[in-house]
Amino acid sequence: MHSHHSALGLATLPVGGRSVAEIADSRPVQPVTLLRPHAAARAARFFAERFNGRALYAVKANPSPDLLRVLWDSGVTHYDVASIAEVRLVARNLPEATLCFMHPVKAEEAIGEAYREHGVRTFSLDSMEELEKIVRATGGASDLNLLVRIRASSAHSKLSLAAKFGVEPGQSRELLFAARQAADALGICFHVGSQAMSPAAYAEAMEGVRAAIVEAAVTVDIVDVGGGFPSSYPGMEPPPLDAYFRVIHDAFESLPVSYSAELWCEPGRALCAEYASLIVRVEKRRGDELYINDGAYGALFDAAHIGWRFPVRLLRDDDSRAKPVGFSFYGPTCDDLDRMAGPFELPADVQVGDYVEIGMLGAYGCAMRTQFNGFGSDLSVVVEDEPMASLYVELHEPARSNVVKL
Ligand SMILES: *Cc1c(COP(=O)(O)O)cnc(C)c1O
Repeated sequence: MHSHHSALGLATLPVGGRSVAEIADSRPVQPVTLLRPHAAARAARFFAERFNGRALYAVKANPSPDLLRVLWDSGVTHYDVASIAEVRLVARNLPEATLCFMHPVKAEEAIGEAYREHGVRTFSLDSMEELEKIVRATGGASDLNLLVRIRASSAHSKLSLAAKFGVEPGQSRELLFAARQAADALGICFHVGSQAMSPAAYAEAMEGVRAAIVEAAVTVDIVDVGGGFPSSYPGMEPPPLDAYFRVIHDAFESLPVSYSAELWCEPGRALCAEYASLIVRVEKRRGDELYINDGAYGALFDAAHIGWRFPVRLLRDDDSRAKPVGFSFYGPTCDDLDRMAGPFELPADVQVGDYVEIGMLGAYGCAMRTQFNGFGSDLSVVVEDEPMASLYVELHEPARSNVVKL
């Protein structure tokens, strides 16, 4: 781990760490990312122990090399990469990892480099053109795992992945048949959309897998149920992950696949949402609007653009007895788009100079940051506190209350 911010006296510590209260107490001028490696490790172990198959980490959710190392150390050996930059990143940081190139539309050059220089053997596809690219770029290799992506409904999910990729039901026959000829192992994959709020999403998609297998009459060696496993956010508290696993295991058991067929999944969000949070400072208050020092162009893209709500808590020396009120946030840049509607519940007496922790930003939060308008910071520090919500542990009251006494 690196410590690139000694100026503030905040270093990323390799083991152990500080407390959230200590960091707020140091009154940082810039937003600070708080890392919880123990939470990511716990999530990885949960998938390793409870999912009856292989869990690939979907790197796009959070490509931080520190996180990749935590997941590797917790038993994640396979990584779902979507671009040649992600291929290179994981190959550089985890040279022994197995990479699976799961973007169904790739540059032919990217396929060639991944195959020749990084040992990638697993590719997804959803068209004949992509199959031809893969065959050409690998010189007609005979050691390929090819996974045909079929379309799945995103009806149960908060973020759709249904429109862009995937062969239509009823049109996969020709592609499965052709991929079978080119593949050493043939798979079928899908993605039910991110933050799937019901296990039924997977049951329904598995019916699509069954129909595709029956129609094409091919032997299938891998069934990959993709990502979509949820995390916990205000107003979006999902059923336990075990309920998802049960539905998937049952559906897989009854599929007409080869008896040695493998079950895979590709969690992104579920493995890293609890990994990071952010401390921001209130720079102005206007009624129930708080102007904070991170926003839509920082780690709060989803809060701004799709109205995602994240847990928040006030970090203060003296307890606030004020009632909770729903606030909206403005980020630091100079445009109206930099607004997070929330509502974010904080004590009614929040004021300029207060520090607020915004939780559950490990997935699609830190990964989306830009430096637009000169704002944003990559200060980060490891803390020992539990995450503000969790699918993996029962949290005690202090972690849940929305005021933390420093
Ligand atoms: C984004 C993505 C994932 C991860 O999705 P989550 O909802 O974060 O679990 C997995 N597989 C593919 C192909 C993806 O595009």
